[in-house]
Amino acid sequence: MLQALGELIGQAHVLTDADVTAAFLSEPRGLYHGKAACVVRPGSTAEVAAVLRYCHAQRLSVVPQGGNTGLVGGQTPDASGKAIVLSLQRLARLREIDAAAHVMVVEAGMTLAEAQSHARDAGMLFPLSLASEGTCTIGGNLATNAGGTAVIAYGSTRDLVAGLEVVLADGRVLNGLSSLKKDNTGYDLKHLFMGSEGTLGVMTAASLKLFPQPRHVETAFIGLASPDQALVLLALAQAHAGNALKTFELMPRLGIEFVVRHAPGHRDPLQKPHAWYVLMELAASAEGDLQATALEMLETALNRGVIEDATLAESGAQRDALWRLREDLPDVQKREGGSIKHDISVPIAAVPEFLRVAGAAVLQAMPGARPVPFGHLGDGNIHFNISQPVGADTAGFLARWGEINALVHAIVTRMGGSISAEHGIGQLKRELLQQVKDPVALEVMRALKATLDPHGILNPGKVL
Ligand SMILES: Cc1cc2nc3c(=O)[nH]c(=O)nc-3n(C[C@H](O)[C@H](O)[C@H](O)COP(=O)(O)OP(=O)(O)OC[C@H]3O[C@@H](n4cnc5c(N)ncnc54)[C@H](O)[C@@H]3O)c2cc1C
Repeated sequence: MLQALGELIGQAHVLTDADVTAAFLSEPRGLYHGKAACVVRPGSTAEVAAVLRYCHAQRLSVVPQGGNTGLVGGQTPDASGKAIVLSLQRLARLREIDAAAHVMVVEAGMTLAEAQSHARDAGMLFPLSLASEGTCTIGGNLATNAGGTAVIAYGSTRDLVAGLEVVLADGRVLNGLSSLKKDNTGYDLKHLFMGSEGTLGVMTAASLKLFPQPRHVETAFIGLASPDQALVLLALAQAHAGNALKTFELMPRLGIEFVVRHAPGHRDPLQKPHAWYVLMELAASAEGDLQATALEMLETALNRGVIEDATLAESGAQRDALWRLREDLPDVQKREGGSIKHDISVPIAAVPEFLRVAGAAVLQAMPGARPVPFGHLGDGNIHFNISQPVGADTAGFLARWGEINALVHAIVTRMGGSISAEHGIGQLKRELLQQVKDPVALEVMRALKATLDPHGILNPGKVL
């Protein structure tokens, strides 16, 4: 097998050395560790097709992988050691920028940061933005339908894609790269593959939609009393700024304390502590005084008692410092011991109620636990993370992961929410999906999987 694969893509790109493959076999949280027969690194769509054709014929499992930043174990092979990890990292070329169509065609292994930078160089914006953007790849973003901090204005990854090139399980190449704005010629197949987490096909390139580069950006860090007040502020911001509202992120005081305590170079952003904070960004490419809009909105919010204090970034450096408070938050939780995580969404208006009910339920089950819920309030998507009680035994705390998840997910489901807002299902939530997803939807998903991947070689054990 190793020899056959080497003949298809070059022996140098078939990795078996344990020191080299280790980085591909576990994921960032350290929750999943797998084994693989080898890691293959094809360098073109034709090579991906050749690998899949071979694996299909030989009934070999293939685990597609991009930047390996996924948070649900979708990119990690199982423990059998039989699967082949197919890394897309060598497919990282910019194929084309079509300025008139506002579309750029990039290969799946390009990092998100590089894609953003190509768009910027062409005077345009690719708005997808995640804290992992330096490492995660466009292919991984497509496969997880990644969200991030600009969804409120531009939508999730699937909203940013005009067309896809996909290699099917049997090696056929589906060429759907398109720059068309309008194309109603039957089923829109690209949406099947986005969010499928490598179980229906391997995406090798995408036509990504570009937007005008904002000429004015205003970033505010706001202190307020409660998530209810944050919702009132959201409505006010939408009324004042319309579609210039680009980011609306909620953070609790404890999260800011963690960042200031553990991440170098941070200080408390406002003079006094506040129970909750919002990072808000407005961005516009049209003429107009965006700063005046931001100031007027904040003044109205202050006068009406919606917010307690706010600061508006006066320079690029200040803007970066405010953003880093939000971006460093997921990472610093590790420094406070174990953290049990949930990536949930509920209807936006229900977020404050969810935070109250879920917070109380967790504290009742585990006195001393420290909820640090933060995230994309503008999308109803909260990362409901719970840090261990101070001084608790980390292993004992993490052993209750399933129990606490069940508690929180039951509340989410009761409120009509989703148990996975933006990270996907992978291995982490596979069993849970069976319990919460509409049974007919599950039947259709299985039928699609059987049609597109009849031998079940693509990312087995993930999603379904
Ligand atoms: C610090 C940090 C912050 C994050 N913030 C966010 C956030 O704000 N929003 C968010 O949505 N996610 C976030 N994530 C999660 C993660 O970055 C995203 O899920 C990202 O889209 C994964 O991209 P990747 O290239 O690393 O994919 P991988 O981790 O390599 O793979 C993820 C899944 O996609 C499949 N896959 C990868 N490439 C392909 C391909 N070319 N074709 C088919 N299937 C493929 C894999 O099999 C796997 O199932 C964050 C992660 C970290 C570590």
